[in-house]
Amino acid sequence: MRICVYCASSSQAPAEYGEAAFALGHLLASAGHTVVFGGGATGSMGRLADGAAAAGGDIEGIMPDFMQALEWAHPKVERFSWTRDMAERKALLLQGSDAAVALPGGCGTFEELLEAITLKRLGLYLQPIVIVNQCGYYDPLLAQLQRSVDEAFMRETHLRIFTVVDDVAAVLDAIANAPDWNAQAQALALHP
Ligand code: AMP
Repeated sequence: MRICVYCASSSQAPAEYGEAAFALGHLLASAGHTVVFGGGATGSMGRLADGAAAAGGDIEGIMPDFMQALEWAHPKVERFSWTRDMAERKALLLQGSDAAVALPGGCGTFEELLEAITLKRLGLYLQPIVIVNQCGYYDPLLAQLQRSVDEAFMRETHLRIFTVVDDVAAVLDAIANAPDWNAQAQALALHP
């Protein structure tokens, strides 16, 4: 599989997040999957690629030209796609991916995760989405999504768009067992 991973650029977050990113990169690469990510060298992104590289895995970075100019690209990643802008990058991250996984991160990670959820709600992305709720990091976001259901901004069924796990070790099982989602979802996208 080609697995897209969204995660943090910050190297200042608690070390356990970076360790989990390394473990996930290693686990996915060891299982023969291609790791697709934002291409950054710092924070969890850098650790994810380090983990995949340590297992001899196939890694692909997708990064806008301006970040390359700023030398933010991970030096161990040989395969890069360069994009004109952030919007094109986000589209390429998901395009052709067999699953998307979000580790803890900042606003960039939130944006990527919420876009993937939105596209899946609209039937434009149909693959599993896994949220790694390490240390309960995503509890407030999950509560917000639940509230959007409670107040009928979304349907209950939209909570099936993503699977929540506590630990990176559970990611591959979550992908394998994700509830079926297909283009019929478009009929449920609206809540008239
Ligand atoms: P954040 O969680 O705010 O650190 O943003 C991380 C996400 O946004 C990653 O998944 C990347 O796709 C993108 N991103 C933000 N900052 C960088 C960076 N310095 N290098 C590469 N990608 C980045």
